[in-house]
Amino acid sequence: MVVNFNNSYVKLPARFFARIAPTPVPAPRLIRLNEDLALELGLDPAQLRSETGVQMLAGNFIPAGAEPLAMAYAGHQFGNWVPQLGDGRAVLLGEVLDRNGERRDIQLKGAGRTPFSRSGDGRAALGPALREYIVSEAMAALGIPTTRALAVAMTGEQIRRQGMQPGAVFTRVARSHVRIGTFEFFASRGDHEGVKTLADYVIARHYADAAGQAQPYLALLHAVIGRSAELIARWQLVGFIHGVMNTDNMSIAAETIDYGPCAFMDAYHPKTVYSSIDSAGRYAYVNQPRIAQWNLARFAQALLPLLAEDEAAAIGLAQEALNAFVERFQSAYSQGLRGKLGLVQTQPGDDELAQGLLDCMTQQGADFTLTFRWLGDMALGPQAGGPAAGSRVRSLFADPQPFDAWSLRWRARLAAEAGDGAAARVRMRAVNPAFTPRNHRIEAVIQAAQQHADFTPFETLLKVLAAPYDEQPESAQYATPPQPHEVVQATFCGT
Ligand code: AMP
Ligand code: MG
Repeated sequence: MVVNFNNSYVKLPARFFARIAPTPVPAPRLIRLNEDLALELGLDPAQLRSETGVQMLAGNFIPAGAEPLAMAYAGHQFGNWVPQLGDGRAVLLGEVLDRNGERRDIQLKGAGRTPFSRSGDGRAALGPALREYIVSEAMAALGIPTTRALAVAMTGEQIRRQGMQPGAVFTRVARSHVRIGTFEFFASRGDHEGVKTLADYVIARHYADAAGQAQPYLALLHAVIGRSAELIARWQLVGFIHGVMNTDNMSIAAETIDYGPCAFMDAYHPKTVYSSIDSAGRYAYVNQPRIAQWNLARFAQALLPLLAEDEAAAIGLAQEALNAFVERFQSAYSQGLRGKLGLVQTQPGDDELAQGLLDCMTQQGADFTLTFRWLGDMALGPQAGGPAAGSRVRSLFADPQPFDAWSLRWRARLAAEAGDGAAARVRMRAVNPAFTPRNHRIEAVIQAAQQHADFTPFETLLKVLAAPYDEQPESAQYATPPQPHEVVQATFCGT
């Protein structure tokens, strides 16, 4: 098994991580390999499927050049400060340079205990591993920055969760695993040298433009804030709810990371929460931008000593950078919403128009994904689309009256755009997915896998979600919301 490792994190000072090998498992079995991603990383899929390859993906074999380690970090969990977290069940095998020369981490999640495990068993259950695989790959297909899924292997072990569950190792690929909590780890210890070393590392790895600026660390702060604001806007625009936006679950490279009790919204409501561990709704859909900004304030705080010698001056600079979040988020979100409505130009009143639709959806609990997808049919207009054009989207509203009133305003606004209705529908379909990883589908995949060792539903779902913007009429059932008895009320992180 040849992996051309090119490791950099392990060269950082010893206090940044703990060297630790994965703990072997009794009976590795490869459940899924992401061949396209393997090729992107310069790995040979046939080798990964070989006996040694599978042993590696389960943590039983350490290939030449790997320098396995668990990263140290801290974090704010649900607003509460936790001075030491760290990879408690993940082992970074090493880094590779991908086909584009980009550095990517290869990490085994569920690879056994590390010095950061506290009371945890260091393992991952099959269900959450499949969930992370499905949702992260769906996000990638939607074009949203995310960590990727390279493989899932079963371990042959049963682990204790809610009852006994089959164990699995999930192989995750990331631009890096540096989190806001990694900066907090050093800052909270008064380790300014550590913060500086980490900031230099992150600039070199992710924000090369910042290096040439007059104030590289301030430029880094601005860049992380900007990229994160755009990421969260992308989440909002597809109805994605992360579920556990703790600072240790926010990537400095602004990729979506640490998929736990996450979910895509079915019926639209801004206050939607799925996570079983978020009873207060801190991480509800509508709160995500505010929480991201709060998390970024923790990052800014960690950077303060690097921003200016005078503390007051540093705080002023940090505050200014944080204020830019709102504008950056709002502009990405507004532009995205206009796109979802088929609008190319910007006109006064567009934000209110979009909000008008969201209000109708809230009142009627209309399906988020389908409302936007099917709205595209109405762009054709009553003639071209036939008398039934728009009947699909209307059917999502129990009382279609408010929606009808809204759609008249929308049509009038759409008429101001260049091009005909057919072109508008094409534009709309390109940004409004037909297929998102709906909770009840993920649940069905997990049940089939756990109860019958049947991975066909998993494979089928992955295939549909790989082309979320295509019509795929043969898979229409994957686009529909859950029946009342299929609705998943809560998702579990299963840690
Ligand atoms: P998470 O909720 O998955 O983001 O994890 C929060 C923290 O708990 C991280 O430090 C994890 O490494 C750690 N952790 C989660 N599950 C386990 C486990 N089963 N064993 C050891 N550590 C864990
Ligand atoms: Mg985490």
